[in-house]
Amino acid sequence: MTETIQGAIARVAQTLRAAGIDAARLEGRLLVEAVTEASPSRDRTLAMEEAQRLNEFVERRLRREPVALIVGEREFWSLAFRVTLDTLVPRPESETLVQEALAWAKGFENAASVLDLGTGSGCLLLSVLSERRDDRGVGVDINREALAVAESNAHRLGLTERSRFVTGDWGTGLMESFDVVLANPPYVSDDELAELMPEVARYEPRLALAGGMDGLDPYRHIARQARRLVTPRGALFLELSPPRAEATTALFEAEGFRLDHYANDLAGHRRCAVLTRR
Ligand code: GLN
Repeated sequence: MTETIQGAIARVAQTLRAAGIDAARLEGRLLVEAVTEASPSRDRTLAMEEAQRLNEFVERRLRREPVALIVGEREFWSLAFRVTLDTLVPRPESETLVQEALAWAKGFENAASVLDLGTGSGCLLLSVLSERRDDRGVGVDINREALAVAESNAHRLGLTERSRFVTGDWGTGLMESFDVVLANPPYVSDDELAELMPEVARYEPRLALAGGMDGLDPYRHIARQARRLVTPRGALFLELSPPRAEATTALFEAEGFRLDHYANDLAGHRRCAVLTRR
């Protein structure tokens, strides 16, 4: 069977759509592009090995493996991040934190220090550093395998000189404080875990998702450490589960923080709390 790149995209999209996958066209394109690399033309036909690889990719997708894991990377903040089974797949709503952190850091007269708690693929930290050429930052994760992925992303983005990745249980063991503290902790409650889409439930790390019974355990942990981690001019940028925005903020208010504002994601949900030291 000979098929053009264009034809393959349309066919795969149709297969995925028939399987109930929403972003079928986009995913079809990503899967075909991953096997044909940077082909200048969409009219050329797929080589046999490319067609075989594409079939395997489509089979995997039909078993609900996320496209990001099949192709090995995901775009976030217009940058390509490598992802594996050890890292949460970067989600567009998390770009809200990057946007808020950049807006805040505009007010600084000199370079800022950045901390990313539970860095995973490194997407939050590296996106901020990619926009602010004098800043340096640290990414912490409890999972060494995830840190290796974050390090490889720093390397791919040319940010190894300005970023450092360390194992740790949130901020335990960190001696410095930082101007920008980012965190997208696990915040899925036990009840919600049972409802996750198969893509997330089967293929994404529980360690990066499960927030305990009420989904707030990691925030409790971070709240107890946060004051000493944030500089007086700095702020904490926390990703939120929208229905628990207030409950989450209250945990930090009880530990000496003040809510500066909430920021919504593109779907209009409260996704980020910007908190400063009182
Ligand atoms: N927003 C994620 C989801 O898809 C949860 C991410 C997290 O727990 N930090 O459910």
